[in-house]
Amino acid sequence: MDAAHVDDDLVNVLFTEKQILERLDGLAAQIERDYEGQELLIVGILRGAAMVMADMARAFTRHVEMDWMAVSSYGSGTKSSGVVRILKDLDTDIAGRQVLIVDEIIDTGLTLSWLTSNLKSRSPASVEICTLLRKPEALQMPVDVKYVGWDIPNEFVVGYGLDYRERYRNLRDIGTLAPHVYS
Ligand code: IMP
Ligand code: MG
Repeated sequence: MDAAHVDDDLVNVLFTEKQILERLDGLAAQIERDYEGQELLIVGILRGAAMVMADMARAFTRHVEMDWMAVSSYGSGTKSSGVVRILKDLDTDIAGRQVLIVDEIIDTGLTLSWLTSNLKSRSPASVEICTLLRKPEALQMPVDVKYVGWDIPNEFVVGYGLDYRERYRNLRDIGTLAPHVYS
């Protein structure tokens, strides 16, 4: 669905589908240069990163392996709990591999800081992070992010994989959720 289909629920559209795809093209080109001549495994964090993974993987002009993890860091609301649990682990043995974690948003940084150290304990050649969005003002844990689509204000956003109570993930664009939806 498009922003027009959920018009009253959004304060604004931050990024259109077209802008997102162009940004992902740019990130994919940069990643390709950085990993030239090396095998690369991208790890998508379910469920939010599904769209970023699908579109970024196809923006590459080279082979890339894809795997998935699912972790729970949030309950069902709009605040991070800081408690991380692995709901689905990797199917791939990452020992000696170049690993790139792909996520849709870094908010407090709790999830990815925990996940990065978890993956680093499995002896990979490298672990880096790529995120479409980052909220610098919300950061509580330092996370070393190599690739960022955009930094955004500390507001709750939905669309393009990002949900509020499992809704809006299938919105093509990214927008700021209107407070009346969650208050
Ligand atoms: P963090 O641990 O606080 O960085 O949160 C990471 C996860 O929280 C993200 O991968 C999202 O699933 C979720 N999240 C954080 N901010 C938002 C938001 O603005 N909209 C929707 N989901 C969010
Ligand atoms: Mg996520």
